[in-house]
Amino acid sequence: MIDLLETLCVQITLKCNLACTHCRAASSPKTSVDIDLPLVKKFLYAIKAIGLKHVSISGGEPGIDKRIGEFSNWLISEGFYLTITTNGTTQLLSRLKSSNVHPSTRLRINVSIDGAKDIHNNIRGNANFEKIIVEASKIKSWLNWIGVNTVVTPTVKNSLPELVPYIKSLGAERWALITPMPRGRFKGDGSSPSEILQMTVDAKAMIQDLGFNGKVVIYNFIGTPHTSILVDVNGLIRVTGLSDKDDIVIGELKNFSLDKFSKSVEQYKKAKEQKCFNWKSWENDQIPTMPSLKFQSAED
Ligand code: SF4
Repeated sequence: MIDLLETLCVQITLKCNLACTHCRAASSPKTSVDIDLPLVKKFLYAIKAIGLKHVSISGGEPGIDKRIGEFSNWLISEGFYLTITTNGTTQLLSRLKSSNVHPSTRLRINVSIDGAKDIHNNIRGNANFEKIIVEASKIKSWLNWIGVNTVVTPTVKNSLPELVPYIKSLGAERWALITPMPRGRFKGDGSSPSEILQMTVDAKAMIQDLGFNGKVVIYNFIGTPHTSILVDVNGLIRVTGLSDKDDIVIGELKNFSLDKFSKSVEQYKKAKEQKCFNWKSWENDQIPTMPSLKFQSAED
């Protein structure tokens, strides 16, 4: 087996009960597309051959997809590690339990919390901060692990002194700070890439100064390290860029070829190493052109 691709993101659904202002998937109660699960399973099974070990499920909101329990069981039984990201306001945990998904070290659940109460509720609309903290505690008790995801904006950063005690009392193992990116509903707030990154780095230092002892990581979607390969709800396999138009489609579930996909993944890895994913580089604050890479396109 070759180790070409360890992690893959899967957008299980576009549906969401919320309509957050910064949603990069532009999900809302009005969006309704679901991924074709049998096709996804076939694809994931095939790419075990090139090293796939970890599947990260996002949406939309995975907790409102009735198939989440069955899909999670399938992934775990196939030997994958699994991460699910939830907004904490749906029945994710009860769906997992009723499908007999067992808490295991192969499963990780992240809850999205964007700032202290008022800030979070303002960004996430109908979300109820206190209820999410309760749900996150339930997940922590069941799984003995909980992660928190936070998209860092200036207001979110300013609310950290109020938020950190909640996350500490939750006993979160890991806190991921995510750079906001202008795709989906979020159009940017005028900050330059380097300002966004600096703000996120400062937020990490604040969290640690305020006594959070878990791991704090930065997902810098503006720079090279955290570009990823995503299977979207329509079955398109994308190298995700900073904005929708900058995604590079490298395949389709319907006519997937392991050979072509492997070649694209090789190019993707090379591009990451050479920092070619520079469509908006935080290093120089410029809006560069697309990388001139020869990916196998969906049409090839
Ligand atoms: S950010 Fe997450 S919770 Fe908010 S609308 Fe998008 S998918 Fe739903």
